[in-house]
Amino acid sequence: MPIPTPTHADARLVGHIIGDQETGAADEAIERRAPGTDEIVSRVLAGGAPEVAAAVGAARGAFDEGPWPRLTVAERAAALHRVADLIDAHADELARLDAEESGKPLTTAEGDIGGAAGLWRYAAALALTMKGQTFTGNGPDYTGLVLREPIGVVGLIIPWNFPALILSQKLPFALAAGCTAVVKPSEFTSSSAHLLVRLIAQAGIPAGVVNLVVGDGRAGQALVESEGVDLVSFTGSTATGRRVMTAAAGNMKKISLELGGKAANIVFADADLEDAAAGVVHGVTFNNGECCVSQPRLLVHASVADDFVQEVARRMQRIRVGQPLDRATQLGALIHAPHLARVKGFVADAVRFGGEIVTGGGDPAGSDLGNGQFIAPAVIDRVAADAPVFQEEIFGPVLGVTRFTDPAEAIRLANGVQYGLANTIWSKSTDTVLDVAKALRSGTVYVNTTIDAPAQMPFGGYKASGIGREMGEAGFEEFTELKSVSIRTGKRVHTFPG
Ligand code: NAD
Repeated sequence: MPIPTPTHADARLVGHIIGDQETGAADEAIERRAPGTDEIVSRVLAGGAPEVAAAVGAARGAFDEGPWPRLTVAERAAALHRVADLIDAHADELARLDAEESGKPLTTAEGDIGGAAGLWRYAAALALTMKGQTFTGNGPDYTGLVLREPIGVVGLIIPWNFPALILSQKLPFALAAGCTAVVKPSEFTSSSAHLLVRLIAQAGIPAGVVNLVVGDGRAGQALVESEGVDLVSFTGSTATGRRVMTAAAGNMKKISLELGGKAANIVFADADLEDAAAGVVHGVTFNNGECCVSQPRLLVHASVADDFVQEVARRMQRIRVGQPLDRATQLGALIHAPHLARVKGFVADAVRFGGEIVTGGGDPAGSDLGNGQFIAPAVIDRVAADAPVFQEEIFGPVLGVTRFTDPAEAIRLANGVQYGLANTIWSKSTDTVLDVAKALRSGTVYVNTTIDAPAQMPFGGYKASGIGREMGEAGFEEFTELKSVSIRTGKRVHTFPG
């Protein structure tokens, strides 16, 4: 049974949390409608430069004078564990908020929250093992210390597709290093971030260490421009990422950008084709296809293509499209009406470029889907490499199929887009797998599995998919600076002793 969606009267008010103050009512608020029903579920305050200035001031004070960066790593790790436990205790509520506001299936949101708690625990382990280096090879009286320090105040800008999870790919890592933060969630999905920041206070992390400013891109822009911020970690579209790069130039703040993707599933003739077909369907429908590592391109060897495409289409037709809060739903509602129209536009466009629709692309059947942003998952065959459906990020459940005849052609096709976030290889040959994995220009390669990586694996993009890495030790190091301290003991021999 689906959980009933709240009506307008129940709509939550989501405000800012700055220092120990929560902002309640305000004149300007952004209404958030549930993508599955079009009901208003929350009203989000529209923060801007004044709220960002106050939040950065609070984070700056907490970093420059507060206890957080000065705690022992054991104390910081313990606090991160307390947050993880509170996430587990509020998992149902957090998952429901994300499913309701983003339109993702509730079961996917539940997986996100489990993953989020795991990230807080992993970051606690990184805090405990935070260390620098020493160098003593420059003479017996020389000691070089390489100190690893927190980078300072960080601005974290979050998209709508994995609200609690992507926040947790950044915030615990920054906190583990000793940073303080201003979080700016997406205006479409701010409620789980609001609850998380409350839980962080409940866990005993001091006021001002984590601040929340809600609102649209104006708040994000003000955060990136702020002179009081030392690093911005941004996840979102490549177009906004370019604006972030420019806006960060003022105080030369560091930036970490996790941007768009256009992954390919490369299916060789020797693959376990049943397994690969299931993986291809998962790769393009997981999280409604609204996933930076979604796999909207199928590159399949010509010798097996016809049967394989039929098998994929058959499986796509069995995907259950439904209300996000219904536990039986496998594909929920897309984020908002303009996005649905854009995704459908790609299907229409593909036909103009010579593609053939095998299945889907229109309205799905279902009596309770009338007011929501739903689409039947689509397979489009014979997609040309210069078609927009092959080149551009779609961010919806639309699969384009292109045939290849040898590995070199598959690699050329996979790499022939501006993005370089992830790709997947399906083959039983170790030679093929390793040769192709090394040739792919992407930060992640999945082999005989897809959208599958633990927190210990660094995640990020080549080319227009971004700068820097998230998660793993590399993701932790993004939130640190290195300081080289050169020490001479005894009397130094000066070049110009005077
Ligand atoms: P978006 O770029 O529209 O918005 C992302 C965030 O940036 C939001 O919080 C938004 O309010 C804010 N923002 C908007 N304008 C801004 C500005 N001028 N300055 C600063 N912040 C601004 O992206 P979206 O639609 O929320 O998310 C979808 C995109 O995110 C897709 O392109 C997807 O591939 C990408 N994404 C990438 C990853 C990754 O790890 N590489 C993960 C998830 C999503």
